[in-house]
Order: sequence, then structure tokens, then C-alpha cells
Amino acid sequence: MTGESHHQSAATIYIDGRWRPAESGAEFDVLNPADGSALGTAADGSEADARAAVDAAAAAFASWSGTTAYERATCLERAHTLMLERAEDLARLMTSEQGKPLKAARNEVRYAADFLSWYAEEAKRVYGATIPSSRAGHRFLTMRQPVGVVAAITPWNYPISMITRKVAPALAAGCTVVLKPAEQTPLCAAAVFQVLHDAGVPAGVVNLVTTSDPGPVGDVLLDSEAVRKLTFTGSTDVGRTLNAKAARTVKRVSLELGGHAPFLVFGDADPRHAAKGLGLVKFLNTGQACICPNRVFVQRELMDDFLDVLVQRVTAMKAGSGMDKDVSIGPLIDEASMAKMQRQVKNAVEHGAKVLTGGERLTDPQLQGGQFFAPTVLTGVTPQMDIYYEETFGPIAPVVAFDDEEEAIAMANDTTYGLAAYVYTQNLSRALRVTEALRFGIVGINDINPTSAAAPFGGTKHSGLGREGGPQGIDEYLDTKLVGISL
Ligand code: NAP
Repeated sequence: MTGESHHQSAATIYIDGRWRPAESGAEFDVLNPADGSALGTAADGSEADARAAVDAAAAAFASWSGTTAYERATCLERAHTLMLERAEDLARLMTSEQGKPLKAARNEVRYAADFLSWYAEEAKRVYGATIPSSRAGHRFLTMRQPVGVVAAITPWNYPISMITRKVAPALAAGCTVVLKPAEQTPLCAAAVFQVLHDAGVPAGVVNLVTTSDPGPVGDVLLDSEAVRKLTFTGSTDVGRTLNAKAARTVKRVSLELGGHAPFLVFGDADPRHAAKGLGLVKFLNTGQACICPNRVFVQRELMDDFLDVLVQRVTAMKAGSGMDKDVSIGPLIDEASMAKMQRQVKNAVEHGAKVLTGGERLTDPQLQGGQFFAPTVLTGVTPQMDIYYEETFGPIAPVVAFDDEEEAIAMANDTTYGLAAYVYTQNLSRALRVTEALRFGIVGINDINPTSAAAPFGGTKHSGLGREGGPQGIDEYLDTKLVGISL
């Protein structure tokens, strides 16, 4: 793959169209979470690199925002084609660096490429309006214009699609970008930027600063007056801090933060279908997705049938390296995550929960090099347990019984988060009633994949601000200019 050479030399910083090491010369190791082996090194950027990236993005803004939507669309279309041509290499890199099974990595690359093609098309549909004025001899019109330089900060769990979900609409709108990826997945970020480079995105339009120390780099981006927009995907705690810092220069902000999705299974649902759906979406990416269910509410009369199927499916899940065939449970990203799984299970059991399957670290000799936690089902989960409110971000399914619809809605809404929710029922009226009552940004009705480049993704409450995907996704990078004209 064209991007290979800079990985070996740790020149993973990309500024003004050129790959280079950190100005300090510092590097950090990138590890394979499945076995702890070294995958390569990345440039350890600091304030000086961040400042150079902002300067490049600011200098490129005038010319990029002055291109036609058709020129920008052509760049994005080329990037889409290149990303699909390199899909297998990108997926293998992602599995090595992040740990997800290869099949899931292939799906993510396709999802990531979708944003490039969808926003290539949407670039051409950035319309303004004419507005009737109450005054004779007077007219109003509006223009949509790019907000300026964008600072983008992304997480490790979806290391390629979280980048295109931001960069594609930003470029389509005419913005320039400085991106700081997660420290666990800088090589995936570099490979995406190589795609953009090879697609002919002009120098300075996209800039990448890899670092093992996000604070100082983040502060340069957030304190810069030239940067007019922060787009962040990551945890609620970090998002809240960055939001406060961005307020000092009154930046536009979009935040895609943590989740604690409720998964509601009503007595009229098909228990096999619901249990299969839960097994797939709860253990997606080893439970390390923001839309993973974190509490499973099952109407009491369906509980036994539901649990039979669920436990059977979960015990059959194979853990291991994502490169191995038939593996559906990859490693957790690090030891801190392992410690959180162990703490949440211990705390739940101390407060009366039952472990139906899993519940502990897997210690098979071939799994020793990584952090593998057994896919777990807990029952009898109550609000006294940490897991009831705290995001798990791992392969644990806590199950709670309920008796009626009103109670289920109240329990589902009893969280500070508000990203995804799932409802399983065969009753159309109930499906709509419950969906309307759920205070979440995304609801899947008998559906575990309510996501697409064409659809607005995002949360309410502590899950974030703004939407990514769909027409709403490009609005985040546009200002509306009102023009009044006296004739
Ligand atoms: P994280 O710890 O919040 O990190 C996210 C990004 O922020 C990383 O690039 C991190 O850099 C950076 N960062 C941390 N502190 C910073 C600072 N002071 N200044 C500037 N940047 C800083 O989250 P994560 O563990 O990578 O991701 C998991 C979280 O993301 C979960 O809560 C999940 O729900 C959420 N998520 C949400 C969505 C969504 O669409 N709503 C999608 C995916 C994930 P380092 O890596 O160097 O620490």
C-alpha cells in the first residue's frame, strides 16, 4: 500500500501535503492489542506540530473554500474509489491495530468510504434561500459558507470511519481540517490521510498530528482563533472538558460522546429474534461501540425464552485475534478497560446479580498476550450496581426484568446518556409510542443497525451535540450568512 513507507519511519504527521516526523523527533510505539506485539511507531507530535498544522490549514482555507463544489466533490469521489481499492489492506491494518474481527473491519472500511461518496454528492446541494421581506424595495437572501478551519479529534474504536464521518462533510463544505486521532490507532489515521493525499486533496487542506499526549496538542487547537470549529468523538468526560475550552474562543462545537443504550424487549416480541439482535449489537466490536446496549430490559413473561437463546449464542462466541476465522470477540483495547470489566462484574455480583455465562478474564495460553474478557450475561441487575448507570464499553450484557410499558420507558430513560435505544415488539402502536417517549437520538425498532452515511447520527443529553451523517452532517460545517438588499 502507498502509505507503508511513512509507518516504518514514524513520519505519521502530515502537514501542508507532506509526511514528516515530529518536530522534536519523538516517537511512540503502536501495539497490536491481540498479542501486545509492536506494530510500528508513530510520530509523537507536540505544540509545535499542532501550530504548524493550524497554520497550514488556515493558509489553505482561502483557496479551498474558493473551489467549486464540483471540484471538491471530485476529490472526495477519488478518495472513495481509492479507499475501496485499498479496502483489504485498510481492514487488515485496522484489525492489527484496533483488534476487531477482520469481517467487522471490512464492514467499517465500507462504511467509512460511504461518507466520502455521500458528501461528494451533498457538496453540490449546499443551497441558500430567498426570503420575502416585509418592506417594499427590500430583499433577503441567505448564503451557506464554510465555518473555517476545523479541529477534529477522534477515538480508537472506529479508527477509520470516525475520520471520514468528519473529514468528508468538512471538505465538502469547503473547510480545511487538522485532525488528532486516538493514540492507540495512529496508523489507521495515517492510512486514511494517504488516501486523501493520493486522491489529490491539495496541500494544507487536511493535516494530521499524531501524538501520545493529547492535552498540549488539543490546547493549541482549542485556543487558536483561526480554528472555528471543534468536532469531537470520544468519551463524555473528555468531550465536556474540550467543550469548555472551546468556549473560550466561542467555536462551533459538535460532540459525539458516550452512550448507555437501553434494549427493550416487550412480551409480544419474537424472543429468538430479539436475543439474536442483542447478541450481535451488544458484542459488536467486543462491546466497544457507543451504540452498544448497556441495559437489556425484558418483559418478565419472555425472560426465560429470551435468556435461553441469548446464553446459548453468547457461550458459542469465540474469542481471539481478529485475524483468525470464526472469531467474534476480539481483545479489549487495554488493561484499564479489562480492570473496568472486572470491577463492574464484581460490583454487580456483590449487589446480587447472577453471572449466567462469562464474567471473567479469559486465560487460555493463546490469549495471554492480549486483554480478552469472556462475553458475559448478567441477570438481576439493579440501579444499585455501577453497571446500571456507568458506560461499560465491553462485552457484558446486564439484563433487567420489567412488568409494563410505562415502567420500561421510565427505566430506559433513567440515564444521563441519550445516544441509541432499541425496541423489540410486534405491536406497531407500541413501537411508535415507546419510540416517541424515549429520550435518545437514535432508536432501532426490531433493528440493530440504525446507522448509515445518509442518516443523522447523534445523541441527546450527555451523549452530545449535533449530528453526523445525512444533510445534518454538513450543516455542522456551514455558517448561514443573511444578506439584506435595498433595491
Ligand atoms: P477518549 O478517551 O475521550 O478519547 C477520544 C479522543 O480524545 C482521543 O483522540 C484522545 O486522545 C483525545 N483526548 C483525550 N484527552 C484530550 C485532551 N485533553 N485534549 C485533546 N484531546 C484529548 O475516548 P476513547 O476511549 O478514545 O473512545 C471511547 C468513547 O468514545 C466512548 O465513551 C464511546 O461511547 C465514545 N464514542 C462515541 C461515538 C459517537 O458517535 N457518539 C462513536 C465512537 C465512540 P488519546 O487517544 O491520545 O488519549
